Amino acid sequence: MGFLNKNLLSKIFPKYVDLFEQINNNVLFQNYIKSKSSICTTIPTGSKSDYFKFINKEIIKNEAIDYLEFGVYEGGTIIDWPKINTNKNSRFFAFDKFPPKYPIPKIDDERVHFVKGLFQDTLHDFLKDFKLKSKLVIFINLNKKFDTLYCLSELDKIFNQKPIVMFDQFGKLQEEFIAFHNYIKSFRRDFQFLCQSENWRKCTIELYPREKLHTASKKLESYNTGIKELDNNKKKANVIFLLIDDLRLDKFYGQNRTAYTPNIDLLLKKSVFFDSAISSADGTFASMGSIFTSKYPSATGITWANNHSKARKFFENIRLCGYDLHATFPTGPGYDFFKTISKSFKKENCDTVDWKKGLSNGIDKIIHQHLTMNKMNTPWFYYIHLMDMHLQRSISSKFSSKIYGKTAYERKLSLIDSWLGEFLEMVDLDNTLLVLTSDHGEYILDNNMKPDFVPILQQNSRIEKNKISNSFLGSFGNITIPLYLDEWGRPRTIAQVGLIIMRTILTPYRQQKLKRSLDQYEIRSTYKRGKNYLFDEAIRVPLLFIGAGVMHSRIINDQVRHVDIFPTLAKLINLPINKNAIDGRSLLNLINGKSENEVPAIIESMPVLEKPVGDVIGVRTSKYKYFRSRINPKLNVSLFDLEDDPKEIKNLADTKPEILDEMEVILTQNFKNTPIIKEEITDQRKAQALKTLKEMGYD
Ligand SMILES: [Zn+2]
Repeated sequence: MGFLNKNLLSKIFPKYVDLFEQINNNVLFQNYIKSKSSICTTIPTGSKSDYFKFINKEIIKNEAIDYLEFGVYEGGTIIDWPKINTNKNSRFFAFDKFPPKYPIPKIDDERVHFVKGLFQDTLHDFLKDFKLKSKLVIFINLNKKFDTLYCLSELDKIFNQKPIVMFDQFGKLQEEFIAFHNYIKSFRRDFQFLCQSENWRKCTIELYPREKLHTASKKLESYNTGIKELDNNKKKANVIFLLIDDLRLDKFYGQNRTAYTPNIDLLLKKSVFFDSAISSADGTFASMGSIFTSKYPSATGITWANNHSKARKFFENIRLCGYDLHATFPTGPGYDFFKTISKSFKKENCDTVDWKKGLSNGIDKIIHQHLTMNKMNTPWFYYIHLMDMHLQRSISSKFSSKIYGKTAYERKLSLIDSWLGEFLEMVDLDNTLLVLTSDHGEYILDNNMKPDFVPILQQNSRIEKNKISNSFLGSFGNITIPLYLDEWGRPRTIAQVGLIIMRTILTPYRQQKLKRSLDQYEIRSTYKRGKNYLFDEAIRVPLLFIGAGVMHSRIINDQVRHVDIFPTLAKLINLPINKNAIDGRSLLNLINGKSENEVPAIIESMPVLEKPVGDVIGVRTSKYKYFRSRINPKLNVSLFDLEDDPKEIKNLADTKPEILDEMEVILTQNFKNTPIIKEEITDQRKAQALKTLKEMGYD
């Protein structure tokens, strides 16, 4: 109703239109019949007793039941059921007002009991004392929406196993059916139809136990920080370096979270967590290069395409220190950074996985196998790079509900959290150091906010290899148009062409609408990384240390940097490093609760596609953010006071020239001249890399 004028509408339709409700309910009804009746038997129309006899014989198998009937009327059913189900341990309870017209029927069977009164007065108290002894069978013969909804909602408390619910008037779409639909949705239940009769007037269903949301790892729950100090002379800790690509801080920690994350919450409690860790760049390989070399990208010249081998030394040093190197990392055409830097790994210790795949596409099993295969020689160092947060990843149906987060992005974090629960069960934190961080953040735009999002076609036109599934247009949508080819040279289907046409028409309109409806901060959700800005959404990431050698748990607000991760790790696992050859410093003092002077973070935007270098460079302190054009200090200048204006809305570049000068001095002092770019790649690989980047959403 959001876009309809409610006043105008009430003038056209001043009264309740029963037909509209019937039409809408019928859509829900048909969807249920389509999706929930794979094992449903149709029972020929006959007497009511025959229908119940079938249920008792085929479904209940005359076992003991606790039978609750709502709506007795003349008593036909409550008289029948004790005769049909002859098990001596069965109990039968019938609920009704029993008005003078329909008094309590006389039944000579001590298994039968009556509860007289309004359901709303009697059922609650009845259930307080009721102890379920046998399989629960419910019969609903109410033909009233609100009574049905009330009874189902109250009964939900005792629906622990798989109760059987028989509806006598399910086909009345505005009464029992819609009440059942509302109950199912409100209580997050699932079900199957078992049998139906009289063209769905009557039906019997089996309700399933509510699907539980995932829980926190028991092992993590019982993990105590601070018990053991790792004696580096005797034993080296194993290390897991978990990098969750594309994970921005405020969706992992703080008030803005909507993901369901019991494991992350527990990690935050039991780890040393930095809530102000700043990426060196807003793109993957420049950032990763910066983590692995402990140098800013400007000092190494590592970009999406160049100088990747400079990041090799990180792993080489760890190997020389006696570590067995292991990794699970993404790769693809032109996406071979990790292949390049893992040359010192034994081949069998490296899982190279398709960059388009996420945990639910089998990466979870690969990691599980890796950790349980017994091929890891202690001490080992296991690098895991997850691509799940990237916008293009699809999400499994379990996590597509709003319970798991407001946006698709947050639901993916819930998925990762669920995996973390299983993963942490396999990790012995007393002997393993776990480092968790991300390469950069993200401007998050939910699917339905994308200007080129076309609701029905988009949801129904998923292209999977050579087939297109399209439930909306049915087989018609799959007809191909011979001369209209896609980027792989295959003819496009009608559904795909429809999507393209609709996008062309809708995008400009939706862009206008977004501009009108979003505020300045929200509009940034439509931004992309690798452009001429560097907002915190894209460069502030989680950084967490837990396990062997970390004897505290605390949240540290000091600003730290990507380049600090490697020196910290080196200190924790006793790895010799040349302090003069790096831009970072160890965070061990902060981890141990000592204070340190802040070091400004040098930041830059990642060059995308054909550009050899990024658009902007800058400085971030806990007080100010400054960035400007890389080639011209006077161009694209932004200055934000992060304390007064954490959302970076008010550009102070024109009003605070003295701060601008200070920041520019820090920048020029710390920003190394980019070394001459050494092209390591062939034109063919470059073309592949460009294609991959485009697929990842860069433009
Ligand atoms: Zn990335």
